[in-house]
Amino acid sequence: MSEDEKKTSAGLFSEFGAVVAEHSSFVIMSHVRPDGDAIGSQVALGFALMAMGKTVYLINEDGVPESLAFMAGSEKVTTPPAEPLEVEVAIALDTATKPRLGEKSLHAASKAKFWVNIDHHVSNPAYGDLNIIDATSPATGQILYHLIRELDMPLPDETRDAVYVAVSTDTGSFQYGSTTAATYDLGADLIRRGLDVGKINADTYDNHPFRRLELMRELLNTLEISADGKIANWELRDAVRLKLDLQPDDSEGLIDLIRAVKGVKAAVFFEELEGGKIRVSMRSKDKSVNVCEVAMKFGGGGHALAAGIRMGGPWEDAKVAVLAALGEALGK
Ligand code: AMP
Ligand code: MN
Ligand code: MN
Repeated sequence: MSEDEKKTSAGLFSEFGAVVAEHSSFVIMSHVRPDGDAIGSQVALGFALMAMGKTVYLINEDGVPESLAFMAGSEKVTTPPAEPLEVEVAIALDTATKPRLGEKSLHAASKAKFWVNIDHHVSNPAYGDLNIIDATSPATGQILYHLIRELDMPLPDETRDAVYVAVSTDTGSFQYGSTTAATYDLGADLIRRGLDVGKINADTYDNHPFRRLELMRELLNTLEISADGKIANWELRDAVRLKLDLQPDDSEGLIDLIRAVKGVKAAVFFEELEGGKIRVSMRSKDKSVNVCEVAMKFGGGGHALAAGIRMGGPWEDAKVAVLAALGEALGK
């Protein structure tokens, strides 16, 4: 972070401190189909605010996925209530666009008078009244850690563990290029504060249901690679999801397996969603292709090296269009 960036974030952090000081009720949300950074960020900030005596609601459109239910404090994250919550402030975490919070969540938060948007997606259009967006941060959880430390907010055990899960899952276990010295400093600080690093990693990464392997077998049967070997893709159709009784998070992270192939520059996962929509997940190995730019052509977004789209069909047309756009981006 440059000196200038530090100054701006310090200013925004103190604005957030003022919002916290002046209000007593908050609803904290994150994106649909939440990942570790989404739920981890909600729990991290939620428990810090609760420890300050604030009234805090944690809601997510899709609730907590089975794979993250081990997280202490995640039981406080519920699906949105039918009636709007009586809250002053709404906080969106790790959510690139407002609609990605989900319709029910937006309705539940509709009485909030002030919106805070904390995120690290480069494509975030700054839809809050206060926007703390740092696209150089590898995880929203890392922004929150700095925020909590800088404002000297409480850091209860749930927050400590949740920050770790958020940062670890969004950095591919502290591996991606977005990982910085500050990320390792954060890890070291959390361990000094009593984090059980062996246990939390085992809970996060060595605890998959068997059907995830069955899914992997099905995905491998659909694997395709472009003629030049630079684009690998695989797909999950509805029939397989039903056959294996899959949960949305069963495929989380599997795309990294095809991104890791020698020569592959971009990996794509096409998934048929209930109701005919298509979810496209893209990963880039390095700066040679910016998958966020490709995703934005189709109304999606994300980061330069990890981005996604939700689009309409027909299935084959969507595949052809996305693969062509990626091919073009790679040719540049
Ligand atoms: P995923 O492939 O779903 O793990 O998403 C990769 C990254 O892109 C994540 O940071 C997502 O938050 C972001 N992303 C995924 N889908 C969308 C979308 N439809 N619009 C904007 N950002 C997205
Ligand atoms: Mn996320
Ligand atoms: Mn994130």
